[in-house]
Order: sequence, then structure tokens, then C-alpha cells
Amino acid sequence: MTGNKATVSKILTFSCVDGPGNRLVIFLQGCNFKCKNCHNPHTIGHCNDCGDCVSQCPTQALSLYEQVQDGQDLQPQKGTSRVRWDASLCSHCDQCLAVCPQQSSPKTRQYSVAEMLAVLRKNSLFINGITVTGGEATLQLKFITALFTMIKSAPDLLHLTCMVDSNGSLSSTGWQNLLPVIDGAMIDLKAWQQETHLWLTGRNHHRVFQSIELLARHQKLYEVRLLYIPGITDFDAEIDELAGYLNTLPTDTRIKLNAFQHHGVTGEAQEWAVCLEQDINQLATGLTSRGVKNLVLPAVYV
Ligand code: SF4
Ligand code: SF4
Repeated sequence: MTGNKATVSKILTFSCVDGPGNRLVIFLQGCNFKCKNCHNPHTIGHCNDCGDCVSQCPTQALSLYEQVQDGQDLQPQKGTSRVRWDASLCSHCDQCLAVCPQQSSPKTRQYSVAEMLAVLRKNSLFINGITVTGGEATLQLKFITALFTMIKSAPDLLHLTCMVDSNGSLSSTGWQNLLPVIDGAMIDLKAWQQETHLWLTGRNHHRVFQSIELLARHQKLYEVRLLYIPGITDFDAEIDELAGYLNTLPTDTRIKLNAFQHHGVTGEAQEWAVCLEQDINQLATGLTSRGVKNLVLPAVYV
């Protein structure tokens, strides 16, 4: 992030699965977790302009350019140049993502708050709100806070709700900044046991529980998401403890069960068994029989 600009990997102008109603979704670049099962691994890192992807682009949508110094054009050189992406030439083959050593993308764009508000205004009549996601959205906290503050003070955007989809790693102080301007948050609980969470994500889950509980106390916990990977995540093995915990949350909190699939994953996760409808049903039955309410099951298994 530069000043109050955000590095954005994608904007989806319409989604009905990222919070209540129809939403515009902003995917921010960069994540502090390294999930073995990440479905968008090219959103984890930040581009360092190494230039490795430029020669791999089959449509010449990528080029190196040198910033002009003292009024003189400089020859582009690998190592000092910046990478430029021409969206009009891109065929979206994703070859650049496959070769990037930084788990990044040359197709990110910087948006100021004013530029993002202009995107919102173009779409505001067709949506109920916006959701910022990632990567990990809260790593660009200043941008999100400034954007949501502007939305909440703009008469023509007042109908939009502002939601955050997060891995829950934000500190309590960070959430305190966001609380006045968010309508709700969706938090991923990626595993129940600390060891499982650490092995799966590279980070412990102390902050995740803190975030869930803080948001619940402030009536801002819209949804807790559990991605079920049979034999990997431990929700079935720890179902008594898991259900007991979920039952302490406000009863209107949605508990969304997601089924692991192979789409987008790399490395060892490609060998893991996918989650079938019967697996989700078994987990759902186990939770329901222990009193967990407001479960949301996947609409599709692909
Ligand atoms: S996704 Fe676009 S920029 Fe990347 S290699 Fe393919 S055509 Fe080039
Ligand atoms: S997107 Fe990746 S491969 Fe391309 S210039 Fe940036 S860091 Fe290098």
C-alpha cells in the first residue's frame, strides 16, 4: 500500500455470496497467512518488479518500463524497472501467475479512496453493499477505514453496508478503528486445534478467537466460516469443543460450512481428498445435534 492507496488484485462488481444481498467485492493484495490450501495463492505476496513474468506473457500484455528521470527516457532494465500490465491485451491465461516467485501478480492496480468511490458510484444502484476481502483485507487497514468512513458520510452511498472478510489476524486495536464504520465481518476459523492451525496456515489462532469474540461483543460478527477438509481440518475430531464454542456466540451469527475443493490450490493440497456433500452433511448433523443453529451449507460442490 502507498499512502492511502490500496493494492487491489480484483474487483467483482456483483456477488451474492460475500455477505448480505448483492455486493461489490474488492480483493486486496497480500496475506499474512500461508495456507497450504489457498485457492488464490497469487494474492499472498507483493510484486517486486523482478520482471520474470514479462517474457512468459503470450500476448505482450506485460512490459518493463523505466521511470523517467531528469526528463530523459531510460532503457528498461531487469532489476530497476517496473512492470506494466496492459489489460486490453490480456487474455487472462494466468501464465504470469504460474511463474511468479513472489506468489503475486503483475495484474494488481493501485486505487486511491477517491478512485474506489468512483467505481462504487458506477455500481451503487445495483448493490446493497461492499465487501473487502483478500488476500487479507485488514493488512490495508488505513485504506479500508478511510473508504468506509467516506461511504458512511456520503448521502448517495448511505444505503451501502460495509463488510470485511478476514482471517481474523487483526489486533484488537485495529478492530477498534474499524468498528465504527463496518456493518459486519466474516471470519475464517481454519482449524480448532492450535497445532492444526499452525501447520495449515503458518500462524497460530490466538488472534482469530480474539477477533471473533470482540466482534461478537460489538454485534458485528456476521459469519464464522469453517472450511472442512476431510482428514485435515479437525472440526469432526473436536466436534464437542467446537460446538460448545459456537454455542457461546450470538444466535444470529451465521455458521457457514465450506467444502474444500481443488480449484486453484497448489502443492500438497492438490493430493488431499475433496469434501463431498455427505461429509458436510455429517459435520452439519454433528453440530446441529449439539445445539448449533444458523448453519449455512454450500450451495454447490465443485
Ligand atoms: S494473464 Fe494476461 S498478463 Fe498474464 S500472462 Fe496471460 S495474457 Fe499475459
Ligand atoms: S508479478 Fe511476480 S514475476 Fe511478475 S514482476 Fe512481479 S514479482 Fe516478478
